[in-house]
Amino acid sequence: MSIFSAIIARDIPADIVFESDTIIAFRDIAPRAPIHLLVVPKSEAYANVVELAAGDPALLAELVSVAHDLAREHADGEFRLIFNTGANAGQSVFHVHAHVLAGGLTEGSLGGE
Ligand code: AMP
Repeated sequence: MSIFSAIIARDIPADIVFESDTIIAFRDIAPRAPIHLLVVPKSEAYANVVELAAGDPALLAELVSVAHDLAREHADGEFRLIFNTGANAGQSVFHVHAHVLAGGLTEGSLGGE
């Protein structure tokens, strides 16, 4: 079970900001922007965004829509959407998730670190 599945199951606490049948979103425990949320499909079937795009593109589109809604709710609606894909790219949890960074981002920066 991934750490995100433990959050979904309420086995470990998180600051949950959105939940539907298919997606959960919560605050990143180590925020790198004024708003730093993780948007996570509840399914454990996809380790990364490449697998999600191939296996369930509608769920990926839903995830992007949730990210936009949350950026509107928590900031001005503009946001950076990051999918670290592979350990060499900084991925540490192999249960697909999007980082939503918003609110006071450094202009022109690509990274959230
Ligand atoms: P990544 O490195 O792209 O796989 O992203 C994993 C993210 O999960 C990191 O930004 C962590 O800070 C975050 N994270 C790890 N454990 C927790 C947790 N229990 N609650 C919230 N965020 C977490």
